[in-house]
Amino acid sequence: MKAAVLEEFNQPLSVKEVTDPLLTPDGIILKLKATGVCRSDWHTWLGEWKESISSLPHILGHEMSGVIEEVGQNVQNFRKGDRVIVPFTQGDGTCPYCLSGHSNLCEHQVMPGWTYNGGFAQYVHIPNADHNLIRLPDGVDFLEASAMGCRFMTAFHGVTNRGKVGPGEWVAVFGSGGVGLSVIQIASAIGANVIAVDISDEKLEFAKRLGALAVINNRNESAPAVIKEITKGGAHVAIDALGIQETMIESVLSLRKLGRHVQIGMTSDENGGKLRLPVNVIVRNEIQFSGCLGMSISEFASMLQMVEKKRLQPGKLVTKTISLEGINRTFKDMSNFASVGVTIVTQF
Ligand SMILES: [Zn+2]
Ligand SMILES: [Zn+2]
Repeated sequence: MKAAVLEEFNQPLSVKEVTDPLLTPDGIILKLKATGVCRSDWHTWLGEWKESISSLPHILGHEMSGVIEEVGQNVQNFRKGDRVIVPFTQGDGTCPYCLSGHSNLCEHQVMPGWTYNGGFAQYVHIPNADHNLIRLPDGVDFLEASAMGCRFMTAFHGVTNRGKVGPGEWVAVFGSGGVGLSVIQIASAIGANVIAVDISDEKLEFAKRLGALAVINNRNESAPAVIKEITKGGAHVAIDALGIQETMIESVLSLRKLGRHVQIGMTSDENGGKLRLPVNVIVRNEIQFSGCLGMSISEFASMLQMVEKKRLQPGKLVTKTISLEGINRTFKDMSNFASVGVTIVTQF
């Protein structure tokens, strides 16, 4: 099969013929129809998260959807020809976290594109398939499915589960990349008012088109002060989609008393992945600080229903479709922070 292979960190992926993936009794082989290119792919490509992948050469790509091509003998719930989306946090289906509906926190978690070869290829093998695939409703196409593949589903989990955003509440989101834009659409759909913060006017324009009621360029203005003014006291929920020191602190400082901060952006490994927190503000204002990783299998049904009924439109985040050969260009754009919206591989 054809694949875009990571042979050396921070060097162009090599698009070439490689051996087809092997089917296991509990797995399936998926023929890819769409794979999103995520900033996490870019971080890994740069060599930042070396320990997360087994060895080189390796195939990245974790925002995957497609059609099942082959089914292992032990798989009960899926058939050849099924249209599916692949959650990027995958569980064993048997540990206490999986059994209590938190498959994104599985004790034996695996992640396609890191733990094993991912979706920058014509085919991918998905292990333990009965627990790690979601059937796509007929009305949801592959482009939308892959646009949901990681950033959108994580934002859904962050907004609805971790942040518990309610109608009429103010939500501030720091970063208007894939996660931030998804937060804007999802929080707006459930009736919240969203303020988007970024340093790029172009990204903030796109944020407005997706439903942000106000935008702040925090290169020119102090986001916490402006947010406190607009919201008359601070946001109910603030989400840091970036994972850098400045945005995380500004996010916490934008909250009203009893506000909820949701941390979606992971930070780089410098300083052991540690950032400083404004502890006294957190204590005095009884701020909640929550992490957010992917989304559990149990939450897919409600998200997909909203997509099927067009209350959510992840396809609106997609600004570019490319071939496997185009991934290198996308990584380059990401290095320059020049990409707006979401890019999806649709030609394999
Ligand atoms: Zn991702
Ligand atoms: Zn588990």
